[in-house]
Amino acid sequence: MQTSPTQIKNFIDGQFVEPAGGKYIDNIEPATGKPYSQVADSGQEDVDRAVAAAEKAFPDWSQKPATERSQMLLRIADLIERDLEKFARAESIDTGKPLSLARSLDIPRAVSNFRFFATAVLHTENEAHIMDGVAFNYTLRQPRGIVGLISPWNLPLYLLSWKIAPALAAGNTAIAKPSELTPMTAYMLCEVCAEAGLPNGVLNVVHGTGPNVGSAITAHPKIGTISFTGGTVTGRKVAEAGAPLFKKISLELGGKNPNIIFADADLDAAIAGSVRSSFANQGQVCLCGSRVFVERPVYREFVDRFVAAASKLKSGDPLEPTTDQGAIVSQTQLDKVKFYVDLARKEGGKIALGGAPPKSINERCTAGYFFSPTVITDLPVSCRVNREEIFGPVITITPFDQEEEVISYANDTEYGLASSVWTQNLNRAHRVAEKIHTGTVWVNCWLVRDLRVPFGGMKQSGVGREGGNEALRFFTEPKNVCIAK
Ligand code: NDP
Repeated sequence: MQTSPTQIKNFIDGQFVEPAGGKYIDNIEPATGKPYSQVADSGQEDVDRAVAAAEKAFPDWSQKPATERSQMLLRIADLIERDLEKFARAESIDTGKPLSLARSLDIPRAVSNFRFFATAVLHTENEAHIMDGVAFNYTLRQPRGIVGLISPWNLPLYLLSWKIAPALAAGNTAIAKPSELTPMTAYMLCEVCAEAGLPNGVLNVVHGTGPNVGSAITAHPKIGTISFTGGTVTGRKVAEAGAPLFKKISLELGGKNPNIIFADADLDAAIAGSVRSSFANQGQVCLCGSRVFVERPVYREFVDRFVAAASKLKSGDPLEPTTDQGAIVSQTQLDKVKFYVDLARKEGGKIALGGAPPKSINERCTAGYFFSPTVITDLPVSCRVNREEIFGPVITITPFDQEEEVISYANDTEYGLASSVWTQNLNRAHRVAEKIHTGTVWVNCWLVRDLRVPFGGMKQSGVGREGGNEALRFFTEPKNVCIAK
């Protein structure tokens, strides 16, 4: 397998091809701030070509027995696993995330995504509804056709494969668009698909910007299904483009997730778990808990111990094995993080940790996009920093006195993606979980992911659910067949 090509081309109809306009965009390594490859700057014509290839491939792929599609996805999983180290290194260079994280989380999860849906599709059931003496009905679930899959930069292969695997397992053909900031592992996935023998046109990857490629996908009349993960503002544009064409759309969007620590919690576990949920992947995980609420009797102890634990996180070159905190994905994202830290100061917040880039990393990384883990206290619950998604290594910690009070704080946001609750009181755990408006509630843990469970957000964190049967249902069309008795 070739890694790190200097030019990342589109993958259409089983071939790596130049973008129609012949243009490329620099692909920057966040840890150095320098371009290290180029990515196709595609547009409408490239999407049209991909759609033509996907249309041609659909009849054969959709008619294959599920066992054959399953075997193909299992082969793809095996090949990613074989090349895990190359994928992990490429993901780390492309995103700035620590190599250790890509190796332990991103790439293994991409393998699991393919394996999970390759086997899930063998265990689906079709409902039957019997009308006594009249008729019986059964439900056929058929693939939707050509699907558009759009993913963000924070967990590139992890999130793209979370869409590709169920879409293909269910018999659809796909046009995928990774973020133009992090296209490398999608390119490598295409190499793997070609090696596995995936029929031409079943998976097509078109690289380029959201306004050019993303909007060409969402507006394309032959792409009737869109699975999108990204920011809420972009999600709104996707919904607006798809609505007049009556597309089936799943939106996994932003978050401002609460992380609640009650005084009866196992503080050792809560602190270790909260450091992870605050700063994993430099806080660039949609599920990170960026608003920490601590019951007042343990507030001071929690802040002191949390700050001490977080200050041990080592910012460094993502490729160094000892690095806990790598680079932020881009200059734009780094500027956004700095903007919110300045805003926190203006809003009266106290910086208990961080608040600036780390002093020095190494010579290779002098122009990289780094920012230290940052903890802010003394901010009102309703301020902008506590309401708007920052998507970086910045959290706030706020005390509370009553259970009802913290539930209202947790819900006092337009988002509703995920939450964590730390308590030893089982009744309270159930009570709070029931009242929090988020698609996932973790109790005494964070980022424990069973691929069978429904995954998604409430309110402005999204519409629809991914995972397990939810994903297979999304990528299929239910049809009622009614047979008279
Ligand atoms: P964006 O919304 O900026 O981009 C997401 C994808 O959409 C990218 O591939 C982007 O392309 C593309 N895009 C941009 N404009 C359009 C458009 N007009 N039409 C169609 N596609 C478009 O998100 P980020 O990449 O900045 O990712 C961070 C966001 O993703 C955060 O808000 C985070 O919370 C959210 N997220 C949500 C998750 C969830 O499961 N709910 C999981 C992970 C992240 P390009 O980048 O090339 O411009």
